[in-house]
Amino acid sequence: MYTLRYPHDKIGDPFDVLKAGLGKAVPKPMETALRTLYLDYWLGSGAGCRITANKPFRVKYGAALRAAYKKTYEGKPLFGLRAELLAVAGNRCPSCGGARPVQLDHHLPQTPFPEFAIFPLNLVAMCGPCNQRKSATTGKTIASAFVHPYIDQIPAVSFLTATVTRAVGSYTVSFAFSPAAIPDSVLAKRMARQLEKVDFNRALLPEVGELLTELALRLETEVVAPNGGVIDQSLIEEYLRRNADRIELQHRIGFWQAIMSRALAAEASFCSGGYRDLLPRPPA
Ligand SMILES: [Zn+2]
Repeated sequence: MYTLRYPHDKIGDPFDVLKAGLGKAVPKPMETALRTLYLDYWLGSGAGCRITANKPFRVKYGAALRAAYKKTYEGKPLFGLRAELLAVAGNRCPSCGGARPVQLDHHLPQTPFPEFAIFPLNLVAMCGPCNQRKSATTGKTIASAFVHPYIDQIPAVSFLTATVTRAVGSYTVSFAFSPAAIPDSVLAKRMARQLEKVDFNRALLPEVGELLTELALRLETEVVAPNGGVIDQSLIEEYLRRNADRIELQHRIGFWQAIMSRALAAEASFCSGGYRDLLPRPPA
């Protein structure tokens, strides 16, 4: 889970976005009401429980705003907006940390909050499974609200711990959230709840498997082969720790791949040769 930088320069004025979505000038009464609602959204950190409902506005303009959002679909005038918002997440889902955030999630869902259907600050890149598991979650209290990837600031600290388990002929790595690493206790609760809800261990599972094999191959070819084929546990531990430092430089402090690399460095059985269980078998 991590914070995204909202691409303000590329998105510009949300009312220009709205105009493009409506395909015409924004009606004055709609604009006036929306300015207040958008400000409420910002002041309430995008948490539904902090935003006052404006039922008459929803009834009057909700359908038009939801239709405007559909202009972000491929081949429609606002597809560029979708592309920009997906681009800021790169190849990482801000919710689970897994790969491929290919969908735009309405942070506040469209049905209860149609006023934010085409508000760019409410549109967040997310992977398909996270988006599905989040579903229409809005959170009745701030403690149960999903973290807002643009507004809530997740500190650059390691808030995950990894447990390495040796199974027969293989290894598995699972992660746990450490709330104590997050100074803001409400944010910590929200993160814990969300990570559980999106089942982030399950989301990361295929990538963990792939990374384990990749690391095993790299240890074999980059550490053990140059050492004359001799397994030197301390060289392997050092390699895995440096690998973790490099990952944090490339991604961010506390990125799960770095946590995993350090946990493997601390696993004596793995570093003393157990990693070879993970090497791809030559074809029989
Ligand atoms: Zn995800």
